[in-house]
Amino acid sequence: MITVEEAWRLIQANVPTMGTEQVGLDDLCGRVLAEPIASPLDLPVFTNSAVDGYAILSADAGAAVHLEVVASLAAGSAPHMELRQGEAVRLFTGSPVPHGSDAVVMQEDVKVTDSAIVLSGPVKQGAHIRFQGEEVKKGDSILDPQTLITPPVLGVLATLGLTYANVYKRPRISIIGTGNELVQPGGELKPAQIFESNTHAIAAAVKEMGGVVAGIYNVKDEPTEMENVLREALSESDAVITCGGVSVGDHDVVRQSATSLRVTEIFWQVAMRPGKPFFFGVSEDGQPVFGLPGNPVSALVTAFILIRPALRRMVGLTHSERWVYAKLGAPIKRQRGKADFVRATGELRPELVLIPTEGQGSHMITGLANAEYLIHLPDFVGDFAEGDRVSATRLTWGFV
Ligand code: AMP
Ligand code: MG
Repeated sequence: MITVEEAWRLIQANVPTMGTEQVGLDDLCGRVLAEPIASPLDLPVFTNSAVDGYAILSADAGAAVHLEVVASLAAGSAPHMELRQGEAVRLFTGSPVPHGSDAVVMQEDVKVTDSAIVLSGPVKQGAHIRFQGEEVKKGDSILDPQTLITPPVLGVLATLGLTYANVYKRPRISIIGTGNELVQPGGELKPAQIFESNTHAIAAAVKEMGGVVAGIYNVKDEPTEMENVLREALSESDAVITCGGVSVGDHDVVRQSATSLRVTEIFWQVAMRPGKPFFFGVSEDGQPVFGLPGNPVSALVTAFILIRPALRRMVGLTHSERWVYAKLGAPIKRQRGKADFVRATGELRPELVLIPTEGQGSHMITGLANAEYLIHLPDFVGDFAEGDRVSATRLTWGFV
């Protein structure tokens, strides 16, 4: 049995990052840049007005000064004249500032007569002007590789006029559920049967984390069937996730079939609650194989704690999960020796206080479903009192 920290290290060391592909602008959100982006443009592209107002010469400005309005430039119309002393040009937000002008006065700050404006006082040089290149110079490197493309990052790419980018491929992942007792939702439960939930929940998690579900299988606790399905799953995916059948029971078929397909075991069993019987191996072709415990809470918590960092790496991200410190809203009695991942809700009082949800049993999926945070209590500490500081992370699955 290894610690969670050691499991994280071994996952980082053994999970490959995907190859790259070109993807069109509007499909880039959620993907990770595989190249640096240098700007092909100055930003702003040209010197323009930040407000609706009038281009003037700052040297002309003063109280009660009259300036003749000689032209009007809407956004999108190129300046065709040079502003001279005593003149003003009507501008709108985003209009180009005409040559000769060095300031814009807001329309709220002038009186308008027939063909002139009357200023109320001095105007600073450069007032209300957005200068060409003040944000970005052509050739500046503005996005690093490994940047997660969020809506604003996509907005930057569009602002630069780019129509595609090189990003890491989405990993294709197959999911295998195991268990003689399982019936698909919609079917009929016979005595001692339950509805199968893990492949559904894990497939949803994989999609949230930027993966593509290559196949979903459900097998009986039968080594030959498991071996055949695992072989097929490996043939069509970049990684495989199995659910259940990975503890020490007689029917635990995952490690057995992995071994017979020459999947090298990197570790099995992690000192964590829930989720101890987690398996991680690598196929001969380097594909990660993750064996999740069957209890639905254990399966989802280990997917969050151990598969999520692996998927981060596969999709090209280099930042690890962000953990925050918060106050514990209730005491927790516990044994050392394993890390606990406690499901909790958060309240601002006014700082963040975390309250463990009802139903912490590893079979109690509602306690996880109602949780917003996962608290990490390390293996080397004992009981926690109300008000103690703990580290926690939001239980959001997507990276964006
Ligand atoms: P196992 O790890 O296979 O021993 O399963 C542990 C517990 O999780 C048992 O109560 C199983 O019935 C349950 N379980 C295993 N796989 C699933 C699944 N795919 N959906 C729902 N429950 C499951
Ligand atoms: Mg089972």
